[in-house]
Amino acid sequence: MAPENGFFQEVLTNLENANKHLNLPAAIYERLRTPRRSLIVSVPVQLDNGTVSFFTGYRVQYDFARGPAKGGIRYHPKVNLDEITALAALMTWKCGVVDLPFGGAKGGVACDPTIMSRDEIKRLTRRYTYEIGIIIGPESDIPAPDVYTDEQVMAWMMDTYSMMKGHSVPGVVTGKPVSIGGSQGRSRATSSGLVTTIMEALKHLGMSVEGLTVSVLGFGKVGFHAAKILSDAGAKVIGVADSKGAIYNPQGLDIDDVAMHKAKIDTVQGYREADNLTVDELISIDSDVLIPAALEGQIHSGNAGRVKAKIIAEGANNPLTIEANSIITEKGIFIIPDILANAGGVVVSYFEWVQDLQRFFWNEEEVDARLNTIMKKAFHEVLSISNEKKIDMRTAAMVLGVKRVAEAVAVRGLYP
Ligand code: GLU
Repeated sequence: MAPENGFFQEVLTNLENANKHLNLPAAIYERLRTPRRSLIVSVPVQLDNGTVSFFTGYRVQYDFARGPAKGGIRYHPKVNLDEITALAALMTWKCGVVDLPFGGAKGGVACDPTIMSRDEIKRLTRRYTYEIGIIIGPESDIPAPDVYTDEQVMAWMMDTYSMMKGHSVPGVVTGKPVSIGGSQGRSRATSSGLVTTIMEALKHLGMSVEGLTVSVLGFGKVGFHAAKILSDAGAKVIGVADSKGAIYNPQGLDIDDVAMHKAKIDTVQGYREADNLTVDELISIDSDVLIPAALEGQIHSGNAGRVKAKIIAEGANNPLTIEANSIITEKGIFIIPDILANAGGVVVSYFEWVQDLQRFFWNEEEVDARLNTIMKKAFHEVLSISNEKKIDMRTAAMVLGVKRVAEAVAVRGLYP
């Protein structure tokens, strides 16, 4: 379900809430409400049956005051300019929250990758990369994976861009395979970072991971790794959902086994050691932590009232609509907001980019340790703002991220 009031409008409302505590000068505030550069491209692709289909692709560079624009590429039938603009704005604040020298961007193609062959996806990726090739690059804008794009898609993007330039440019995308300049630990980085913020929240709330009950909405890369890391740490993942439905076992699920089941039949449903539920039923189940890890607007005014979790950790971007956010905040549920909770992905993307530029690679321990340090620091910075200003965690994260971007915009001044 799309956010009720338009996705970008929701992002602007959150910005407005943050500005009540920042009181930015009017011109800076207006700058931050406006995307810097939006490119819409037509992407012709020859399908396997010989016909040519035209897809619409987007790349929005929301802001790059602090450094190159940064953000993922998604392939999904619902991709549109409003969504990509909203996600690009979220990337801008997210890079601010974890203090990376990046601005924010997002891209995507409106297509249904679930009904396309790998070859069709490859041709789509290559042509889309060529079309946005005029604005991306290691110094200007660096794409990464997002919904329904993966390491292989990044490899095709890197290859296409490199062919255009006549030499290898590994730093043009992150989330690549390690063999062409990817970073150790990138594929589970969003989930590792998410779990770090959950662990800090548990300490803050006087709770323990041992026996903690967890439900995960979305069993893609972020949801799977989060479930796996948490169950390895002693939590009980009692429910998971994907786009087709949910499963539930109060004794806890074997995450690797569920993943094997899903790999066979393309859904978690029907897993033999669990009951089938609808996604809304799983949302209503009593669990300590709820991790929405699929698309925006998963929790909305229609189901937010039923959420019973003590903590919501937002693996997805904007999984709660504005209405859901109010309902859930009202209930006193502790929210770890998206621009903090899922920032681990872009943090390790930053590490990957740095390694590519230096042609000097780190081991997994170094990546994990540095990621952990950044995520803990960001969590506590947001928590302090929330305590000092007596505001919810989302507004506090916005205050931190937006403030950093606003400072860069202000100190650079208006050109000419
Ligand atoms: N798509 C991820 C996100 O929404 C990662 C972006 C990146 O690494 O640039 O944060």
